[in-house]
Amino acid sequence: MEIYNTLSKKVENFKALKEGLVTMYTCGPTVYNYVHIGNLRTFIFYDMVKRAFKFNDYKVKHVMNITDVDDKTIKGAIESRVSLKEYTELYTKYFMEDLEKLNVDMDIKFTKATDNIDEMQKIIAKLLKEGYAYEAEDGIYFSVSKFKDYGKLSGMKVNGDYSRIKTDEYDKDNAADFALWKYWDTNDGKVHWEGKLKKGRPGWHIECSAMSMKYLGKTIDIHCGAVDLIFPHHENEIAQSESYSKQKFVDYWLHGEHLLVNNQKMSKSLNNFYTLRDLEKQGFNPLSFRLMVIDSHYRNKLDFNFENLRKYEKLLGKIDLSIKALNKTKKYDEKEDSYSRIQTKQKVDNELQAFKEAVNNDLNTHEALQHFLSLLDLADEKTEKGKIDNKEFSALSNAISKMNGFLGVYIDYEIPQEMIALAEEREKKRKDKDFVAADLLRQRISENGYFIADLPNTFVITKKYLD
Ligand code: AMP
Ligand code: ZN
Repeated sequence: MEIYNTLSKKVENFKALKEGLVTMYTCGPTVYNYVHIGNLRTFIFYDMVKRAFKFNDYKVKHVMNITDVDDKTIKGAIESRVSLKEYTELYTKYFMEDLEKLNVDMDIKFTKATDNIDEMQKIIAKLLKEGYAYEAEDGIYFSVSKFKDYGKLSGMKVNGDYSRIKTDEYDKDNAADFALWKYWDTNDGKVHWEGKLKKGRPGWHIECSAMSMKYLGKTIDIHCGAVDLIFPHHENEIAQSESYSKQKFVDYWLHGEHLLVNNQKMSKSLNNFYTLRDLEKQGFNPLSFRLMVIDSHYRNKLDFNFENLRKYEKLLGKIDLSIKALNKTKKYDEKEDSYSRIQTKQKVDNELQAFKEAVNNDLNTHEALQHFLSLLDLADEKTEKGKIDNKEFSALSNAISKMNGFLGVYIDYEIPQEMIALAEEREKKRKDKDFVAADLLRQRISENGYFIADLPNTFVITKKYLD
């Protein structure tokens, strides 16, 4: 597999630390509000990275943190007059629901920052002892000038003239000594820990270093985030982790580009964001957003608008219909290898091969999707003929499932018995040429959120999509 590494700024051939296994850490959400679809673009990107390795038969150990203590969560909890735990658990729940709706592979070890405070303290204490960190009146800081490789990821230089910074997110143009541990003050309310260190709480950057090393080891294969995390977050993670472990922290750094609105980054602070719930309220299926994301390359910016999303909603409907129709098409056995059978098998092999090459070419999901759609076109041709040879069907159907195992854009679902009964009744009316009654039944099915399509000898029901 070839993958772009932010550390070397090159597309590299991927080599795992341990054959057949990928250790992967992805920076998770700060659970102080609903995540927006910009954040979700990044979480879909993580999912595609993991699925790409699974597609190549790697086992993947994937850890994602839940940042449930930082400047923003504490502020939110205090303003809402609930405990930090209550506050963050609510948004964690919503976050998980969003991931499920987007068909994210949940084979993830989630871990909360507040469950790993001891580990963070242990690292900070050692950094203090070895002189990489120092104590100031309001906390413990990492001294960036002590780490000679500072800047190796982002290109940021330490010029000796740097300040000290307590907030987690800071000026993108300057290196600064950053807080590892913040001593308690009244702004933090009831949030504080003691133990190895004086009463206080961790800075954001140390959280990821501690969880990555604790659950995956001191050196791991892959660490992912969106591009805004390169500096300072990831640069700081490298500095503190490598100073602590004296080992390389991460082999491959992968960063996804932003989701934009009118050419500006979608963000809470600009108030130009939508949540997945906003899209659902307008009638969109969440998977249409997934489809939109994977149709663009993760290293390109993606401008969001509803007109474009509508295109993907339509495409989603087409995918659903093609797959269901293929499954419902009458099967028969050709006695021997016919021209059609040979042709189908060849086409399936070619498309699968091209699909795999696209996946392995730095996650070219756009191109992979085209090969998937090309097989669906072939499925449509067969469906229109009204019958398909069993061997051709299995070849097609297996390849479609395999591709979907990577893309994750089709999820099977049950059609309620009641809808099937209505559809059968409609079919009867049609045969009796009672078209008025048939149309009324179609309308009833539609009012219930389903869609009925006619095939040569039968019909197929799918969910209804926006058109
Ligand atoms: P946060 O909850 O703010 O820590 O963000 C969670 C993840 O979403 C981080 O990796 C952010 O960099 C990423 N992110 C934030 N805004 C966007 C955006 N507009 N497009 C893509 N990713 C984003
Ligand atoms: Zn992180």
